[in-house]
Amino acid sequence: MKGWRSGWWALALAACGGPPADLPTAERDSLARAGSAHAEWRSYGGTYDEQRHSRLKQIDTGNVSRLGVAWTYDLKTGRGVEATPIVADGVMYVTSAWSVLHALDAKTGRELWVHDPQVDRAVGAKACCDVVNRGVAIRDGVVFLGVLDGRLQALDARTGKLLWSVMTVDPSKPYTITGAPRVVKDMVLIGNGGAELGVRGYLSAYDVKTGALRWRFYTVPNPRKAPDGAASDDALARIANPTWGDRGAWIRDGGGGTVWDSIVYDEVNDQVIFGVGNGSPWNADVRDPGGGDNLFLSSIVAVDADTGAYRWHYQTTPRDHWDYTATQTIILADLPLGEGGRPRRVVMQAPKNGFFYVLDARTGAFLSGTPFVPQTWTTGLDAKGRPIEVKAARYARDLVLVSPGPLGAHNWQPMAFNPGTGLVYIPAQEVPQAMRADALFASRPVAWNTGMDFAAGLTPELPPGALKALRAGMKGRLIAWDPVRRAPRWTVEHEGPWNGGVLSTAGGLVFQGKLNGELVAYDAVSGRRLWGMNLKAGVAAPPVTYMVDGEQYVAVATGWGSAFALAAGFAFDPAVPPAVGRVVAFRLDAKGTVPDPPLEPIDATPKAPAFGDAKLVAAGMVHYARNCAVCHGQLAISSGVLPDLRWSPIAADPASWAEVVLKGALRDRGMVSFARYLTPADAEAVRAYVLHQAHRAPS
Ligand code: CA
Repeated sequence: MKGWRSGWWALALAACGGPPADLPTAERDSLARAGSAHAEWRSYGGTYDEQRHSRLKQIDTGNVSRLGVAWTYDLKTGRGVEATPIVADGVMYVTSAWSVLHALDAKTGRELWVHDPQVDRAVGAKACCDVVNRGVAIRDGVVFLGVLDGRLQALDARTGKLLWSVMTVDPSKPYTITGAPRVVKDMVLIGNGGAELGVRGYLSAYDVKTGALRWRFYTVPNPRKAPDGAASDDALARIANPTWGDRGAWIRDGGGGTVWDSIVYDEVNDQVIFGVGNGSPWNADVRDPGGGDNLFLSSIVAVDADTGAYRWHYQTTPRDHWDYTATQTIILADLPLGEGGRPRRVVMQAPKNGFFYVLDARTGAFLSGTPFVPQTWTTGLDAKGRPIEVKAARYARDLVLVSPGPLGAHNWQPMAFNPGTGLVYIPAQEVPQAMRADALFASRPVAWNTGMDFAAGLTPELPPGALKALRAGMKGRLIAWDPVRRAPRWTVEHEGPWNGGVLSTAGGLVFQGKLNGELVAYDAVSGRRLWGMNLKAGVAAPPVTYMVDGEQYVAVATGWGSAFALAAGFAFDPAVPPAVGRVVAFRLDAKGTVPDPPLEPIDATPKAPAFGDAKLVAAGMVHYARNCAVCHGQLAISSGVLPDLRWSPIAADPASWAEVVLKGALRDRGMVSFARYLTPADAEAVRAYVLHQAHRAPS
């Protein structure tokens, strides 16, 4: 096995000629250390700099039309799939819903082993945005997996045998892990999520061999503003603590600031740069009525790689009020922004708030921030990069339409950078949100707890055509952004928002999956569509590319699901094909096919008469919006990822409804009891609303 492996590396390196000499030394070294980094996809963002740009060019603009299906693999889930497949030593490691890890032969798709960490399904209720997982990390024959319930696991890459497992969070709190770990030096780094429900964010580094904690950086103070005995103590005391007041919901709810996605190793400056999430609760007026900017919420933070000690930060959204996370893709690159146009190493990010940022990687200095989609919450940035807010956008008692909304101008779907074209390819979107302070705000440690009214702007009797209008207001596009000229080079409009992450290749191609189930290849220079195929399931995950036995493959996981599909996918039903978790791999001249999805016919008819007066239905609507909508869909219309309650036989029978909603009868499927938040009368009002919606649905 070992001989085969090293022999293969030699072949791969010979085929690609080794790391090119024009690369910065550090990147060349890290590529060399990774052995076959050119030919495979050995880390989340491709390389440390996370550009998601492959130097493979066997598939190019001239032959991409010959791309065909090499193999498919069934991930056996209808829930969201967001994974970046990791390909190392001829094996693909791909995660699916509930943190299940599949190891496949990268050439044939043959299953080698499956690791199911057996997540208690009740943990699903803590997951803000579906029970997704974005991928693993690998180093020296060990695979690292973040598990939804907060565990970090190390597995033998060859056999899947568990080597160690540590709990990285307080499991009594609503923490979850959906993000990919990163391996930096001899440490594995992992963050967590949960700021919609009420947690305090941090990033941890564990020893790769033993799983022992090496350092931890908290992104916000603890309630007493006292030292934690952690790497962040000094930075919190000097910089962050003075930006928080001494009262408000943050004391109880943790303040948020979770590090749920982007964690990048800047090898040149030997530092870890990570993105920090939104405030908890969202509404700053209830979170911290006496406070200031609330550092390090919505910030990009750099720390020393060995110790976790603070280096610098840049806050994209001071005193976040809108769920404007800055956790989105961080890309490191050399751009001609130094003195006299000399190369300067920069950090690039396009976070939810709608601005494309360029910072100096060494110092964190703000270089530029430019809107990449229309936005309504500022009139621009000042010279230091601080937003000049539109007062009305900081919602309070009055309803205001804010764009971008909490789903962001760009969410977790990774963007990519092609050093050849100098362009960043952003999976961008416009999803405005009607926002208003939640008059009923209270701390609820399991359910969503944002201080923002999810029933804002809704009435049980939405005017005819409202759905159509909602849908028309939501847009998705692929933008080829020039970070030096600060303008788009080209733009492709999609059918709607929530499309897939992006892959760039030296073959002059940009690959992106779409909500309508297509995988498309665009010309990296012109944006012209060169190839596309219907994968029969919506795509949100980013494609990767790799070489096995001299042939280049492109692979992507399907399974739309996740936050948007649950919360707002109703607007696109039935434009989105069913969520089917599957890996599809392509190579030139392959002739395979994507199997038809197993269609379970749904009897889309109400199972009981409507009941209740307008007052009861309206009360049910408010309870539904606060407790049910983020999983079962706004307006009780599901996009198909979770059951559509309108057609449920359980909704037809008050006793069964109470068993499920108040007593947790379906807990083992992730539907926990809501008895702490709903009285029996409230639950019955929700049922009245659901049946009301069932009977007014268009036939
Ligand atoms: Ca959030």
